[in-house]
Amino acid sequence: MSVNATVTPAAHATPATLTASDRCDRCGAQARVRVVLVTGDLVFCAHHAKAYDEKLRAKAVEYVDETHSLVTEMSNN
Ligand SMILES: [Zn+2]
Repeated sequence: MSVNATVTPAAHATPATLTASDRCDRCGAQARVRVVLVTGDLVFCAHHAKAYDEKLRAKAVEYVDETHSLVTEMSNN
């Protein structure tokens, strides 16, 4: 009887990782930063995240910066 084979780590409040389908709220580019606000969350590209950085961090419940993990976007063009 092996009931304890797989231990699932407790869910840390880790927001979902940004994907290529996440689009900047301002320009529609691939999102690099997710900002969780009390009203919901917004995603921004690196450029706009930087542009609004101060305001966003002041309001953010959670600020997830994924600008470092540059995943090549799959383009269907
Ligand atoms: Zn943008």
